[in-house]
Amino acid sequence: AKNSGKNRYQIFNNEIYNEMKREYEIEKELTKALERNELYVEFQPKVGLSEKRIIGFEALIRWESAKLGKVSPVEFIPVAEYSRLIVPIGRFVIEETVKKCYELIQHGYDDFNIALNLSEIQLRDSEIVNDFINITNMYGVSPKYVEIEITESLLMKSIDKNIEILVKLKELGFSIVLDDFGTGYSSLNYLTRLPIDVLKIDRSFVNDILESTKSRCIVEKIIELSHNLGIKVVAEGVEEKDQVEYLRSILCDFVQGYYYSKPISFQKAVALMDSLSI
Ligand code: C2E
Ligand code: CA
Ligand code: CA
Ligand code: CA
Repeated sequence: AKNSGKNRYQIFNNEIYNEMKREYEIEKELTKALERNELYVEFQPKVGLSEKRIIGFEALIRWESAKLGKVSPVEFIPVAEYSRLIVPIGRFVIEETVKKCYELIQHGYDDFNIALNLSEIQLRDSEIVNDFINITNMYGVSPKYVEIEITESLLMKSIDKNIEILVKLKELGFSIVLDDFGTGYSSLNYLTRLPIDVLKIDRSFVNDILESTKSRCIVEKIIELSHNLGIKVVAEGVEEKDQVEYLRSILCDFVQGYYYSKPISFQKAVALMDSLSI
């Protein structure tokens, strides 16, 4: 515009305008993304430090938009949550995950699991428990193969209702993972109130584990505390061999990160599971 840069007020307005326009475009295109088959899922291997092998994967959604190109989930998941498009999109991720479990079982694999990310909007959807039951039944896949990752920062709202649904899912045999632990509204309180099987230590702690005595101390104590409560621990964002070795020495159960693999296609992920020696 002619007047842009004229004063701060104008710049501010332009920024807000551009942001809103981008969000509007994302929402508009996202509405059509499912039917256009623009959404797909990649899988990041999870490595068991005592098993010394890939013990499963995390399913992560991807969007290749015809109009907008590749859009990161960091950008479109919040829009999907705000618009509630996350409900059908999330259902697609559940089905893709269960389908891949089915394929692995068909090929003779047994000791594995696949984790998916569940938004709090989905958790509050009245059909969520039925969706999990129906989709696993449809493929004849036991819920024991499926892990559900939830983020603590989103649990605060209507916490009692959320706990009730998570307990139901756990009773059905799904495993519950508390994602991004150590960020947001962390509360040790959650460790006893939520039906958690696995806790995932946030990347920010893993990042400076080699440099910071404080981070090491925190991670060490989180692992010790979790184990005392019967909770297993995953460290995410592991990028270096020395981080793996340190995490192994303090009895961390699983690691995930670019050191072993970025999120990749299912086919590549399975090939890696067969070939990786740790
Ligand atoms: P998240 O659940 O914490 O997922 C981990 C993110 O860290 C992924 O980013 C992954 O690619 C990235 N990552 C993994 N290892 C490393 C590493 O060693 N170093 C670095 N720097 N990054 C690593 P991604 O795939 O872009 O996903 C970002 C976020 O989007 C996820 O964070 C999750 O909150 C959300 N998300 C992704 N897929 C889904 C989904 O299907 N449903 C929902 N509700 N949210 C999703
Ligand atoms: Ca996650
Ligand atoms: Ca995480
Ligand atoms: Ca996250």
